Amino acid sequence: MATDANKDMLLACDFSGIQSYVLGVKSAGKAQAKRLRARSFLLELFEHAALVMVKANFDVSERDVLVQGGGGFLVRIEHAADAAELENLNADLQRRVWDETGGEVQVSLGWGETPEDARARLEYRKRRAGFSVMQNGGGWREDGLSQQPLGKPCDVCGRASGALEVHDEDDEDVSVLYCQACLKARRIGDALTQWEWMRPSEGEDGSAQALGVDFDVLPREASDAFRVRRWIPRAPNGHEALTFEEISETARGDNRLAVLKADVDDMGVRVGEVAKSDATYESLRRFSSDLHTFFLDWIYGMLRDLYHSIYTVYAGGDDLLLVGPWDAALDFAGALAEEFRKGPGERYGLTLSAGVALTPYRVPVRHAVERGEELLEIAKGREGKSSCAALDAVWSWDRHATVVGDGKRLADMAEAEGGRVPRSLLHRLLRLAESDSPSRAARWAYQTERNARSPDLRSWANGVLEYMDGDEQRASEAAASLRYALLATRGS
Ligand SMILES: [Zn+2]
Repeated sequence: MATDANKDMLLACDFSGIQSYVLGVKSAGKAQAKRLRARSFLLELFEHAALVMVKANFDVSERDVLVQGGGGFLVRIEHAADAAELENLNADLQRRVWDETGGEVQVSLGWGETPEDARARLEYRKRRAGFSVMQNGGGWREDGLSQQPLGKPCDVCGRASGALEVHDEDDEDVSVLYCQACLKARRIGDALTQWEWMRPSEGEDGSAQALGVDFDVLPREASDAFRVRRWIPRAPNGHEALTFEEISETARGDNRLAVLKADVDDMGVRVGEVAKSDATYESLRRFSSDLHTFFLDWIYGMLRDLYHSIYTVYAGGDDLLLVGPWDAALDFAGALAEEFRKGPGERYGLTLSAGVALTPYRVPVRHAVERGEELLEIAKGREGKSSCAALDAVWSWDRHATVVGDGKRLADMAEAEGGRVPRSLLHRLLRLAESDSPSRAARWAYQTERNARSPDLRSWANGVLEYMDGDEQRASEAAASLRYALLATRGS
């Protein structure tokens, strides 16, 4: 077989099972927010640790790191890379990830002469996830099998995994049994709020460890350092991080949380196009780094400066997962879409979509995350994508300001002095907007004529009436605005 010694070899790494690992914490107690951010940060450290392992085996400079963030990476290594060495690295990495997560997270490496080859190889291995851990040289490795020790499970992750320690829960008078892995995550969760920069440690006494790799915390930027970007809402006058309950209390009206899940539309297709456009992969590297910077730095800045009450579970690569008060999350979604349109959207012809799922703070947030993912799929199912799914409706971003703005105006009207816009009227209008009755428009006109004493409400309702027949999209957007207003005025 003819080989071209000058050709590059590309190595792709991908972690899977991330979301269920991050969200697989029990919600009992006030520590849910801290546990989520600790686990999601640990996974980010896994990515960095895997890259450190690759760099230890192969000559990889910063310019060779083509894609990073979002649960994996793509790097260029020398073509002469030894297949046996790569196989060993793959097995070593899988074993370390297995040991640290009890098999909840899987990792795979794939390599080839193009990004597609590396990706295809990786997908093949992914379907056989855990293979290298479980099998070695044809025989089953008994120590690779998960051993479930008898006895009590960890209160945090629910797994029975070795020595447990009792610790008091934050701000609460309860003791909780921690396994060693959850204890480590707890320490990181505590310390994380203070960390700015990190880098792989020279020695073996780093501030944090992941997959057997040590990391140091740095006060400022340095070579090889990466930024710790996790916006954490705090009490106005203190350093205490807010709990989900406290965050939900800052919402207008109904104190619900929202999970905001957003990502770039058709990212895989676009990455393929960019990769093919330039044989040196410099375009791919810049493209990926630009997007990662947007999701990491821009979002951090936006939360710090304007949306203090929104909490980052994850942001990087080409997607994000945030939790915040429902009304702030909807405002932020609009700002995100607008900044993305002006930034990476315009530069690369990209769009993004989002799903916003509302939930009471008492319910484990993973349920709302699942719902948020379904909503994101609904948004992407709309023609042209570039949409937001929320409040039982889905709209394109150019309608976002109207849907949310109308919801706010209706809420203001309902809260204004004089009670000229009772909530019961908003309820009746909502039922009409939702109905598919042929007399819908006539009944809407009747309700408006008879009961809408406020000129502002009349003018809004008459505007909607023009679309009542024949424009289901506008009717569903009006219903979303009414749902917004009803949520915002609940309890007032
Ligand atoms: Zn545990």
